[in-house]
Amino acid sequence: MNENNLKVLVGGTIIDGKGSDLIQDQAIIIEGKNIKDIVNINSISMDKKMDCTLFNLKGQYVMPGFIDTHTHIQMSGEQSEIQNFRESIPKKTLRAAFHARKTIEAGFTTIRDLGAEYLIDLGLRDAINEGLLVGPRMFVSGYKIMPTGADFPIYSPEVKIEGQHTMDSPEEIRREVRTLLARGVDLIKVMTSGRTFRETSSPDAYALSLEDTKIAVQEAHNQNKKVSAHAHGKKGVKIALQAGCDSLEHGTILDDQDIEMMLKNDVFLVPTLSYGKHIEMLGEKCTLPKYAMKKAIKSRKNRLNSFSKALKSGVKIAMGSDSGMPFVNHGENVFELIAMVEAGLTIMQAIQSMTGWAAELIGVSDKIGVIAPGKLADIVIVDKNPLKDISLLYSKENIKGVIKEGKIEIDRGLKKKNS
Ligand SMILES: [Zn+2]
Repeated sequence: MNENNLKVLVGGTIIDGKGSDLIQDQAIIIEGKNIKDIVNINSISMDKKMDCTLFNLKGQYVMPGFIDTHTHIQMSGEQSEIQNFRESIPKKTLRAAFHARKTIEAGFTTIRDLGAEYLIDLGLRDAINEGLLVGPRMFVSGYKIMPTGADFPIYSPEVKIEGQHTMDSPEEIRREVRTLLARGVDLIKVMTSGRTFRETSSPDAYALSLEDTKIAVQEAHNQNKKVSAHAHGKKGVKIALQAGCDSLEHGTILDDQDIEMMLKNDVFLVPTLSYGKHIEMLGEKCTLPKYAMKKAIKSRKNRLNSFSKALKSGVKIAMGSDSGMPFVNHGENVFELIAMVEAGLTIMQAIQSMTGWAAELIGVSDKIGVIAPGKLADIVIVDKNPLKDISLLYSKENIKGVIKEGKIEIDRGLKKKNS
């Protein structure tokens, strides 16, 4: 067995992603891509001649690889719409690769990406899986399933923009979902409400109708793929839940009946608090148009209410930063945890929302999300105790190492002891 194949992480305090008490004095044995075993530190000798690479993690913390369940890896919140239009597809693709690198540097070994242009998400996912690029494992949705007017602005009739897909009939929706599934997406993203971000789109109005959403869900579930619903207002939330979507993104207005339905059908809430919190923090300094700010602030107030109601009722929560939105930068995904803790999650729950619970939402908890024998070795090594202060995870210098499928992808001074 060669050295690279067997790694032993010795002595770090384990935060396992299941919400258990801290686990001390253990050694995690990684063989190839997987966690082979977790044994007592006494059965491992740092001096003994072993055919492996030993890491001395005494005083450090070992966590499952982080998972962000709502990203837009191709989008850049720093770019204006005009800049985005002027950028070529190759440049957009390279930019997405750069974002992927930033994301794994922050400890995120997995993302669920919910809407990219030109199927850049699929290409990036495959390039990372092939080992051409360093980045997180990606679960992608391709284009969003949405009707005219829900997202993209409408321009003068003589302006033609390619690649902005919208669907307005049951036939178009069925064809688009089937096409995406055949192209190899991992899930389907639908918009059942409008957006807070666009001037001409209302978060209170529905986007896809109930009938249309049911078609998307039927086709996705038929192929064992989940459906994520962008849903803000009352109408959009009810359509998403009645159609059988698996997660609500944003979930701005939730009444008791909605929460009951989420509990009954195991529907996750991904509250995406970062964007609104940034706008609130920026106040007058915010550079967005007034209408976008107004809608975001109103949405934030409602969302915090709904989030706290859902949390108290026991609705499952997964962390999703919505990175790629203005001010929500790739690589700063942990800001969402800070926002969720401020809104009522305990730090341990926040950690679960980006590890064990996030893996459950994606449908991969048999492989990732927790530190346990038999799982893929996706591991983040942290210098300080995040349970004392979640914002410690926000500073890259505290993230000492990131291991994805047994491979050290990021090393900021791990203490290696080769024998
Ligand atoms: Zn989003």
